[in-house]
Amino acid sequence: MSELSAQQRQQFKQRLEERFRQLREEIGQELLNSEDPYYQQLAGTVHDTEEESVADLLLDLNLADIDRHVQEIRQVEVALNRIESGSYGVCTDCGVPIDSKRLEASPAAPRCIECQTLYEQRYTQPGHPSL
Ligand SMILES: [Zn+2]
Repeated sequence: MSELSAQQRQQFKQRLEERFRQLREEIGQELLNSEDPYYQQLAGTVHDTEEESVADLLLDLNLADIDRHVQEIRQVEVALNRIESGSYGVCTDCGVPIDSKRLEASPAAPRCIECQTLYEQRYTQPGHPSL
């Protein structure tokens, strides 16, 4: 295992930014589809938001459909921040470089496979929604 090259980092950054825009579109669309005028208004805010955290904005909504996307967009945001700060590609739990094949498959992955498995065992239990 080795650290990512600047070129790889740049590629992951582009993919993450792309995914971010996609998710933002989907979330905006789901908000628009809801009956609630407040959500429809939020859809406009989400669409116009560049700097602020989209995930933070949506955190309190607690809509099942959107929730999944909000969780993913939050992960993408964290990954993009980590690219900026230079800590991208390193497992948040054990500090070991994450295998680049794993990052290819899921660029927003915050953990190495071992730590992710442990994490899921700990937090994904029946009747206990994962975070
Ligand atoms: Zn790890």
